[in-house]
Amino acid sequence: MLEYSYPLFRPPAEADNIIIQATYGCSYNNCTFCSMYKTKSYEVRAIGDVFKDIDTLSHLYPDARKVFLADGDALSLDTDYLLNLLIYLKKSFVKLGRVSVYASAQNLLNKSSQELQELKENALSLIYYGVETGSDAVLKKITKGVNQSEIIESLNKASDAGIKISATVILGIGGSKYTNEHVKGSAEIINATRVNYLSTLQLGLEDDAKEKFYKHFSDFEMLDDTELLQEKKIYSYKN
Ligand code: SF4
Repeated sequence: MLEYSYPLFRPPAEADNIIIQATYGCSYNNCTFCSMYKTKSYEVRAIGDVFKDIDTLSHLYPDARKVFLADGDALSLDTDYLLNLLIYLKKSFVKLGRVSVYASAQNLLNKSSQELQELKENALSLIYYGVETGSDAVLKKITKGVNQSEIIESLNKASDAGIKISATVILGIGGSKYTNEHVKGSAEIINATRVNYLSTLQLGLEDDAKEKFYKHFSDFEMLDDTELLQEKKIYSYKN
């Protein structure tokens, strides 16, 4: 019997696909706006336990073609662990065509180009990546842990390995003061990389995130809906 550890998040595009939890939580878990894994500590699951979940799901859904590896950044796993996992997935789901994962800049920068290529050759072919913003000032205020050039470098590293990228930018993350810088920096990232799918999210702060968020971003003023749409309109022109 397979039991997921909740809360469990997956991209909307993975709604009909197999979800395998290889890690719990997020290895970084420090972005001020994010509440997703605040109730979980990061943990790498024993690979034998993950294999048992794969056995269960492959018996139930033997024709599945797509697998999403959860939780928040399973690309944080050691490459050997990931390769063993991918090989087991390919053996278990004989029609497997795609494995996807949430990935951060840090995850990608911590792997060599050769490691990323090996992962791609073993079906890891799509990453979901939160750019959030391309403004260095805003990246610092949301304590994303990386700057614009590191984001560009990491995305290009994934593309060079043949891995597709589905990226998101968060409308309103710079507030009213940094809206122009946010749009400009984010457009610069998209224009300097080969993102395959791009979508925007809208900033929403859960109660448990507010204190930390405003501590680091004391001059933040939330945009209203019209301003958010305006931000998206300008952003679309720049891309
Ligand atoms: S936004 Fe992503 S990297 Fe940042 S804490 Fe949340 S899950 Fe982790």
